Amino acid sequence: MDSYDLHTHTTFSDGTTTPEDNARLARDARLYGLAITDHDTTAHLAAGAAACVAAGLDYVPGIELSAEVDDRSVHVLGYWIDPADPVLTAELTRLHGERDRRARVMVERLAAAGMAVTWEQVAALAGDAPVGRPHIAQAMVDAGAVPDVTAAFGTWLHDGGPVYEPKQALAPERAVGLIVGAGGVAVLAHPALGDRMATIDEALLDRMTEAGLAAVEAHHPAHAADAAAHWQALAAARALLTTGGSDYHGTRKSFRIGDVRTPAHTVEALLERRGR
Ligand code: AMP
Ligand code: ZN
Ligand code: FE
Ligand code: FE
Repeated sequence: MDSYDLHTHTTFSDGTTTPEDNARLARDARLYGLAITDHDTTAHLAAGAAACVAAGLDYVPGIELSAEVDDRSVHVLGYWIDPADPVLTAELTRLHGERDRRARVMVERLAAAGMAVTWEQVAALAGDAPVGRPHIAQAMVDAGAVPDVTAAFGTWLHDGGPVYEPKQALAPERAVGLIVGAGGVAVLAHPALGDRMATIDEALLDRMTEAGLAAVEAHHPAHAADAAAHWQALAAARALLTTGGSDYHGTRKSFRIGDVRTPAHTVEALLERRGR
């Protein structure tokens, strides 16, 4: 059956591979189509399109927007958005500044805890991409302060952790509205990921549905089978679709492209919800 990986990252945010790498890996995994969903940016969209065309893949232009509830992260995927939408681009510009601010705060706290991590190092690791905690984690590993990225998050950087600084980000239902307003289709990302992110209760899911949510990413490599079934049932009760993706981040996570897939008929149904 033709299938897609609807959730992958590149060096345009906090992955370690290029759009060309992702397209090659998707073709090797015998995928029919691929989405690239970098965090809080649209800078990857053109390169993603070119890479997918060259690899003979159906391209789904995507984004993963950072939202927050009670200072904890909630992620919302958006597909087929207009990257020129002025409301969306204004929020992305604001978020980039906010990402710089909070990364500097976290780096200061790590330095105060005795770690040889500097803002310059972290900024160099991010390059032109919006700065994320994985870049800070990488700098911690490079400084020999922690053995690996998992330890950096588990001990220091996780939501609510000892050096964590929240982003001032949109509420999840507003993130949905932003994506829908930009002509896109909104999907709640990895609701059962854990990593001490926000707990998504049914009331929040209802508000997101009211704002125009199209689907829930029930299938994710870090979702246990019972969690996937639970979220599939919550989605079905609200006439939402369910999707899946690998959340590939190159070497920063163990998940591989194509580990979790979405059937082509679901992608067609998602596209039909555009503009609804
Ligand atoms: P940020 O965008 O700065 O809030 O950081 C979120 C990013 O950190 C996402 O790409 C997550 O996948 C990644 N992340 C969160 N928790 C972990 C973890 N325990 N190990 C590795 N990466 C993580
Ligand atoms: Zn990421
Ligand atoms: Fe995410
Ligand atoms: Fe992601």
